[in-house]
Amino acid sequence: MEAIRNQQIDEALRTFRDLNRELADLRSIASTLNWDQETTMPPAGTPFRANQDATLATLYHQKLTSPQYGAILEQLEEEELDEWNRVSLREARRAYDKATRVPEALVGELAETCSMAYEAWVEARQKSDLAHFSPWLEKIIHLKRQQAHCLVEGDVPYDAMLDEYEPKMTVARLDPLLDTLRPLLTELVERIRLSPHQPDKGLLRGRFTQERQLELGTTVITAMGFDWKAGRLDVSPHPFCCGLNPGDVRITTRYSEEDFSVGFFGIVHEAGHALYEQGLQAERFGEPACETISLGVHESQSRLWEIFVGRSRPFWEYWFPRLIDAFPESFASVALEDFLHAVNQVEPSLIRVDADEVTYGLHVILRYEIEKALFEDSLEIRDVEGVWNQKMEEYLGLTPPDAARGVLQDVHWSHGLFGYFPTYLLGTLYASQLFQQAREDIPDLETQIARGEMLQLLEWLRQKVHRHGKRYSADELLRQVTGRAPDAACFLEYLNRKYSELYRLE
Ligand code: ZN
Repeated sequence: MEAIRNQQIDEALRTFRDLNRELADLRSIASTLNWDQETTMPPAGTPFRANQDATLATLYHQKLTSPQYGAILEQLEEEELDEWNRVSLREARRAYDKATRVPEALVGELAETCSMAYEAWVEARQKSDLAHFSPWLEKIIHLKRQQAHCLVEGDVPYDAMLDEYEPKMTVARLDPLLDTLRPLLTELVERIRLSPHQPDKGLLRGRFTQERQLELGTTVITAMGFDWKAGRLDVSPHPFCCGLNPGDVRITTRYSEEDFSVGFFGIVHEAGHALYEQGLQAERFGEPACETISLGVHESQSRLWEIFVGRSRPFWEYWFPRLIDAFPESFASVALEDFLHAVNQVEPSLIRVDADEVTYGLHVILRYEIEKALFEDSLEIRDVEGVWNQKMEEYLGLTPPDAARGVLQDVHWSHGLFGYFPTYLLGTLYASQLFQQAREDIPDLETQIARGEMLQLLEWLRQKVHRHGKRYSADELLRQVTGRAPDAACFLEYLNRKYSELYRLE
């Protein structure tokens, strides 16, 4: 009897694995198409590609919500499984429930609305007129709230939005974090603004050929441990990282020939994402347990390399002479101190994607507060622009001169991506805690980085974060690795220490 039963479980697990593998293959194919579209596809291919995407999405949805998949989940949930399979089962159940709880008609209406809303947003931004986009925004929020009601366990619809990108994150957990950060960030920005010790802002400007930028970027991410047999680097208008599978992780950047920092930190940032994808367990590809945890944790990997390593003094002690070799005409007569201050300059700005690490969080908090109010129904669409401008003034001391540089600057809402922005900031908070722990675990870490050696740090991340896949939630991972839940204290301490020195704050 026992033998027959074991055989049945093995068979169910095999079917479960095969179905998961097919789902992962479809996701991977969709990502390949997406990479192709962003990097090489000619523009006239767009409508055809949209059809291909829709066909694939339908296939995927059918497979994920098939009675066979549902039955396998139910069957395995009765069994005692090992940890990896338990995690896979939990994650598969989560995906299955999300896909089956929302009526197909609503999914279709959302997809259709968002594709038209995107066009409207492009036009609205061109004309800098929110009125072109408002009716779409209103409709998307209406539909997203319906979606939230199908998904949410408690009584806060916005929690369903957060959970989509940062599983288990809720308004109740996020509010205290951001309420702590906001006044302290605003205060730090103000102290920095008043400091007489300001960097030379023109110092990073010059003539930087794309070829040399690529050469330097390539050398740096090779030293970080980027695996070129399992990855590539291309150019695209919007930098991104596309993990097709652990053996094929593609990153892109865009170069500015006037400012080397755009391309350079873009490459380091995306390479941080890529190292996470390359560090997943290749032999388990397709198992739901062997994927990245969340957008927040993903962003923690990119921010850790970009900011905590890439904008640090030890890093540039090694790399600044190499930067001078690449661009002697721009940097040969620049002192390391001045360069460090320039790559860490803080200045309130209107555009989120251009923001420095101190002001960035305030851009995110502003969007979060507005989204939350829209979902709570305490903010009307017609008041969004006014509230946006008023918060910009309050948090950053700036008033957007027009909607294009204010409320219309980000594409996210037109795609229905609500609850997404907080992951950018959470990533930085997680990164500060992880990097602090890495410094404790590897006592000579900064000396290593100052010698251009970064592989022990990568190995630490592999062991502590990458190889666990989805075993832990973000919160559990942070507790496991650092002994503390995610909080704002570590990041604030880091900022105060670093910027007090750079700006000689009292
Ligand atoms: Zn990123």
